[in-house]
Amino acid sequence: SKAPIAIIGTGIAGLSAARALHEAGQAVHLFDKSRGSGGRMASKRSDAGTLDLGAQYFTARDRRFSEIVRQWQESGWVEQWAPTLFQSREGQLKPSADEQLRWVGTPTMSAITRGLLGELPVTFSCRITEVFRGERFWTLVDATGASHGPFSHVIIAAPAPQAAALLSGAPKLAAVAASVAMEPTWAVALGFANPLDTALEGCFVQDDALDWVARNRSKPGRDGALDTWVLHATSNWSRQHLDLPKEAVIECLHGAFAELIDCVVPAPELTVAHRWLYARPAQAHEWAALADAGLGLYACGDWCLSGRVEGAWLSGQEAARRLLENL
Ligand code: FAD
Ligand code: NAD
Repeated sequence: SKAPIAIIGTGIAGLSAARALHEAGQAVHLFDKSRGSGGRMASKRSDAGTLDLGAQYFTARDRRFSEIVRQWQESGWVEQWAPTLFQSREGQLKPSADEQLRWVGTPTMSAITRGLLGELPVTFSCRITEVFRGERFWTLVDATGASHGPFSHVIIAAPAPQAAALLSGAPKLAAVAASVAMEPTWAVALGFANPLDTALEGCFVQDDALDWVARNRSKPGRDGALDTWVLHATSNWSRQHLDLPKEAVIECLHGAFAELIDCVVPAPELTVAHRWLYARPAQAHEWAALADAGLGLYACGDWCLSGRVEGAWLSGQEAARRLLENL
């Protein structure tokens, strides 16, 4: 039988490509270094239920993506989230309602990638360190030295710096991926026993440390004993405090949150900190996907377009389209 197509990464880009290839009758096999799917759209389990520490919500501007989001909604994987929005500039907090449609996975962000993965073959907890081509087929080597293959094609759906390291079989693609700078984001969750006395459910911040604040339970399908809030630091602050211990990051962002919000912020019952090293590309690109069709090596991810869920999904579609076009 034919060798399957290997896909490295089970974030939204890798699963977008996987689904398109599967629907076109191609066999795929996915790999991820994490224990589950989702990547930056994953949800983290905590004592206060599941938290969205990465992607907070997404918007759909492209017609193809809007159509697929409508299908996800019918499948029960996503719902609209219409938070009471505020903005904070130079310490001035004010309501900031708008008409934008925003979507979240339900009951957690990772419902989407879990749904897309379905029964597709996947190997989790498997960090790929090398991708090389023999005479006809591709072989992957993981961090334990084990090899996987043979594969007819390989799609690398990891953040640019991680993709660059796996693209050495196609030096031109490796150079493009290596040219993409990705910015970090420190994320903190705070859980309070008594609900905070505020109407605020989401806040765009233009400040020193904070970039975004959200009340996790205002999203559909989230329940938990605590009133949990997710705080994201700006790229700048995160870069400057990259190696700060988690406790110190929590203290700083808790302080900034208490200063920003219009109510008393007591000591939290629960604190979680997570550092996203490759949270977002420093700028958008228009590559859609990278391809060396002769070799059968492809790369996709949010960094090929806009650093958003929609861009990542579209990039996965494009990698699959170009691969299918060259079969
Ligand atoms: P990823 O989700 O990063 O997936 C890559 C996968 O590859 C990961 O699962 C990783 O484990 C795996 N991997 C990497 N290297 C290897 C390897 N060597 N071997 C095996 N597996 C590997 N977007 C929005 O639209 N709205 C938002 O509100 C929003 N907020 C965000 C907030 C934060 C804090 C962050 C970090 C991101 C946010 N984003 C948001 C961006 C959005 O999450 C990403 O654009 C999107 O999820 C990227 O998907 P992806 O598939 O390209 O990459
Ligand atoms: P969007 O249209 O809701 O927001 C885009 C940007 O417009 C916001 O960042 C904000 O600056 C501004 N904005 C939107 N509505 C506003 C309002 N009511 N009041 C004040 N300002 C408002 O969503 P999108 O275009 O899909 O962008 C996704 C979001 O994800 C952005 O907020 C982006 O910053 C965030 N993101 C964060 C990371 C990270 O690593 N922290 C990575 C990727 C994306």
